Amino acid sequence: MKIGFIGLGNMGAPMAKNLAAAGHDVTGFDTVVSSVEGVAMAGSAAEAATGADAVITMLPNGAILRAVASDVIPAMQAGATLIDCSTVDVDSARAVAGDAAAAGLGFVDAPVSGGIGGASAGTLTFMAGGTAEAFAAAQPLFDIMGQKAVHCGDAGAGQAAKICNNMILGATMIVTCEAFALADKLGLSREKMFDVVSTSSGYSWSMNAYCPAPGIGPQSPADNDYQPGFAADLMVKDLGLAQDAAASVDAATPIGAQALELYRQMAEAGDGGRDFSYMLPRLAAMSRD
Ligand code: NAD
Repeated sequence: MKIGFIGLGNMGAPMAKNLAAAGHDVTGFDTVVSSVEGVAMAGSAAEAATGADAVITMLPNGAILRAVASDVIPAMQAGATLIDCSTVDVDSARAVAGDAAAAGLGFVDAPVSGGIGGASAGTLTFMAGGTAEAFAAAQPLFDIMGQKAVHCGDAGAGQAAKICNNMILGATMIVTCEAFALADKLGLSREKMFDVVSTSSGYSWSMNAYCPAPGIGPQSPADNDYQPGFAADLMVKDLGLAQDAAASVDAATPIGAQALELYRQMAEAGDGGRDFSYMLPRLAAMSRD
């Protein structure tokens, strides 16, 4: 397939590289990044999209997605598919889906889980929204870039799934950190806490796979001085999207709101570039001697 790939940052570059390594003809564009292994570079997003069977975008936010889509959609050939893998607001996903449909194009919103490691290894999980035809057109590409793709529903459903997943992630990480900080004060060793909770009803991905306590459980950013991983700034973005979405449909998400506030405080303290599990040393420092 001939593929245009727009947004070749931390996530987009390894995803585009994997598509090229699988034998696809990939042409990329990024306003900053000027080369990616195996990928031909275009001078504009529209140029990268011209003649492509599929165009993939991996961009920072919904406003940039809308701007890029307004350049790319007129350049795409009828019947081609636009696949947005960025994490953006549901409204932007639906707006771009509408513009794509009006131009005779397929559209899938397909945000990912798995981070930079998953992007490099080709083991991302895609959560997709769009028509069955558009999802089917994108599926062979998901199979190269990831290990699983779930068709969640119509346009916007992929972003809805991503927002809900990351709200759970943000909140469970905080309460896992709170539990470690409490255990410290109660004289319970972190090792014993992990041994118990990781096999008891308090287990979660935050505890079992990404333990925020250094030296405990499998390797995680905590073992690397809290270098991300998944930066607190990105968690602020995703929890903000969740709160905006909740407000737009009158959903009650009080813990999600509180989680956003705590990560905002971390970012305001100058630690937004650290991994989101840095919440543990913050909470431990907040606990009185
Ligand atoms: P990034 O900032 O590394 O990459 C974004 C790229 O888009 C940059 O290279 C930037 O130069 C480029 N860009 C910005 N405006 C552009 C434009 N108008 N035209 C072309 N290129 C443009 O970010 P990332 O970590 O790769 O994340 C990308 C998306 O994936 C975000 O929506 C993020 O929320 C989501 N995401 C990231 C992770 C992660 O762990 N990093 C995990 C899951 C989802």
